[in-house]
Amino acid sequence: MSGRASAIARAAAYFDSGAFAADLARRVAIPTESQNPERREDLRHYLERELTPVLAGLGYQCRILANPVPGAGPFLVARRHEEEGAPVVLTYGHGDVIRGQDDRWRAGLSPWTLKSEGDRLYGRGTADNKGQHSVNLGALAAVLRTRSRLGFNSTILIETGEETASPGLRELFAQHAELLAADLLLSSDGPRLAPDRPTLFLGARGALNFALKVRLREAAHHSGNWGGLLAEPGIILAQAIATITDARGQIRVPEWRPDSLTNAVRAALADCAVETGGQGPAVDTDWGEQMLTPAERVFGWNSFSVLAMKAGDPERPINAIPPTAAAHCQLRFVVGTDPADIVPALRRHLSRHAFGQVEVETAGDEFFAASRLDPDHPWVRWAAASVEHTTGKRPAILPNLGASLPNDIFAERMPTVWVPHSYAACAQHAPDEHMLGSVAREGLMIMAGLFWDLGEPSSRALCREAAGTGKHD
Ligand SMILES: [Zn+2]
Repeated sequence: MSGRASAIARAAAYFDSGAFAADLARRVAIPTESQNPERREDLRHYLERELTPVLAGLGYQCRILANPVPGAGPFLVARRHEEEGAPVVLTYGHGDVIRGQDDRWRAGLSPWTLKSEGDRLYGRGTADNKGQHSVNLGALAAVLRTRSRLGFNSTILIETGEETASPGLRELFAQHAELLAADLLLSSDGPRLAPDRPTLFLGARGALNFALKVRLREAAHHSGNWGGLLAEPGIILAQAIATITDARGQIRVPEWRPDSLTNAVRAALADCAVETGGQGPAVDTDWGEQMLTPAERVFGWNSFSVLAMKAGDPERPINAIPPTAAAHCQLRFVVGTDPADIVPALRRHLSRHAFGQVEVETAGDEFFAASRLDPDHPWVRWAAASVEHTTGKRPAILPNLGASLPNDIFAERMPTVWVPHSYAACAQHAPDEHMLGSVAREGLMIMAGLFWDLGEPSSRALCREAAGTGKHD
């Protein structure tokens, strides 16, 4: 058996022996709820007493770094520096989870006790993100034990605030630029395109939330006496929204229509049919941008949503013209849409359509930025070939996730390749969260193959080639 095949077999054996589940059970048992201030100690405990001994045992030098944002959870930075000139690979994960929702799990399940049932491993964090970084640590260990070194320089960053919008992560990169510098980010989070389809994603859509408000007067007025005399906020708001998209949701604000759906992105998405696997609602094929495929609509385009809207009191309607109407809206956007111009562009559009009285309000300047690596980037071609070599399956390559994550912090500094080990129906952020054992096992093999290949001499040439492309935007 080749060294590569041995490392992959060792990673699979780690799963088959039950050792993976035992490690994950210990991690799941630590209630690292970052939204719960009472769990502050558990966040530190997870890094100090759970991950540090494991990584130290693999020859990593571990440092716990305080969060630059007061009150936010700490970071673990673990480095295994082997050789000057070898690639430096950053692997990110998060040790925090959302609230356990203890009383809402199905009978026999608990968020803090790992339970194996059929192909499912239940527990809070199994999908998001403890199971995923446990796969990656297990694969690193398998490569190390087989080769007695990695062959590249590995930095592992684990944060404990991802579920509270990653406070301090950007500042950490600014303060420790050298410590965290890398040639490549290779990390795991989020879902595969389909459970049996190995997937690479290269970025994320951005998201900006805002409210549309029509405020005409202080009080409601009798619709019999005043109907026909007073302007109606609900009608004005509905008509204003009707200028933002057409009846099938196609965006009409010119600046909101991306110009980044390149041939390379289209080619990658041609191979990524959106499948819900019977687990989600059926796709409405007559909704959204007509000339695009469903995959292009969700991964290659922007989408406008009305998340909630109100005029008067919908629970107790009365015969009166309400004074105000409001809609809470969101734009999910791909790279190429300027986040700073999303709201100004909407204001210009509304005033062009004579809806200047519709106010556009944001809750502050918070938004998720969009990121994407070119699907033709050398590291992407390399990763896809490695995954195919290991599994015999051609991975789905998503230029970005449809959802949002803070990948822009990494993408500003290095090419980003994500290898998700979860799937869409994992009940992430809900009761009965679980990971599929079959995906974890295949993920261990995929990651062992990737980490093995990173230690091969050819990856050094790839680093130089990638540095020359400068294509990561
Ligand atoms: Zn999450």
